[in-house]
Amino acid sequence: MLLINDLGRHSAALAADLHAATQRVVDSGWYVLGPEVRAFEQELAAYCRMPYCVGVGNGTDALELGLRALGVAPGDMVATVANAGMYSSTAIVAIGAVPRYVDVDQSLTMSPAALEEVIGSGVRAVIVTHLYGRMASMRAIVPLCRSAGVPLLEDCAQAIGAELHGTPAGAWGDIGCFSFYPTKNLGAIGDGGAVLARDEAVAERVRALRQYGWTRKYEATLPSGRNSRLDELQAAVLRVKLPHLAAWNVRRRAIADRYGGGIRNPAVRLPPLSDSAYVAHLYVVRTAEPEALRAHLSAAGIASEVHYPVPDYRQPALAGRATAGELPSTEVACREVLSLPCFPEMSDEEVDAVAEAVNRWEPSCSP
Ligand SMILES: *Cc1c(COP(=O)(O)O)cnc(C)c1O
Repeated sequence: MLLINDLGRHSAALAADLHAATQRVVDSGWYVLGPEVRAFEQELAAYCRMPYCVGVGNGTDALELGLRALGVAPGDMVATVANAGMYSSTAIVAIGAVPRYVDVDQSLTMSPAALEEVIGSGVRAVIVTHLYGRMASMRAIVPLCRSAGVPLLEDCAQAIGAELHGTPAGAWGDIGCFSFYPTKNLGAIGDGGAVLARDEAVAERVRALRQYGWTRKYEATLPSGRNSRLDELQAAVLRVKLPHLAAWNVRRRAIADRYGGGIRNPAVRLPPLSDSAYVAHLYVVRTAEPEALRAHLSAAGIASEVHYPVPDYRQPALAGRATAGELPSTEVACREVLSLPCFPEMSDEEVDAVAEAVNRWEPSCSP
């Protein structure tokens, strides 16, 4: 089976360096929030050209602690999209805040026009998700947030290394949030996350919140603190991988563009060709019958996946917690998306085999 993302191949290519880094940590006798984490925080801040970086336990915690550091409190309304896998909703609801769902546009990221309609109606913060590795329309969204005086948080979990008009993902808003879940473009060998901040005081609040609200050892100053630390093993692994990220993203884009040139099936719509604002975390096509295409690919030995099938406001966990509103583009997108295999170690032959399998597919109701 050709996987969506083959982490075995990924780790094998770096085995010697990964073993050396993990051995170094084991031998050091220091395992949580130590020199590897501090070095990684500096390296990631420099990479994304933001002044401050705080390592945390995972990407969802990065969103939650980021919102808390911006002052989001129970009952506050936070604008976000509903087609991005529940992560932002989970963070919002954990605070006791309320998601205010905003529709997406053709890019499947937040529609600036839809945000403009709601931002003046008591929205306390905005989370924009750079979905599938494609940056949202930041040139329109940033000024909307600025003029409304609403802080902007970027969910960069799928878009690390992307750049729009020369500015990296995570450096457009007040806070950038990252996940290092193993399948992300920069993945750990366990859970991990980070918060980038423009403002020192905001970064210091995240630093306190990730460790019991401490501003000094055993002095719990900030309310709502807890334990969400990055460990040395993950930081050491991430430090091995970060220097390779740019090359991996180039390869991911090349795979996406090879699909773009190779897939010719009138029943399948392709994403736009790649530029630096897309790091091809997922290669997502659209069709009226994603499950039928998925079954066809599976029979050909090719894995695929739906990211994501259910809008957040239809999730049982959120029943009664959220206001759905009218989100027609979100509804259609969730019914149509299908992700094809895309990872840097894929060969051109494998990409071509997937494209040919897609081309051989005949939907039951022709377009
Ligand atoms: C993976 C992901 C997250 C959550 O990260 P975890 O580390 O799994 O908590 C948040 N947002 C997006 C867009 C993601 O893809």
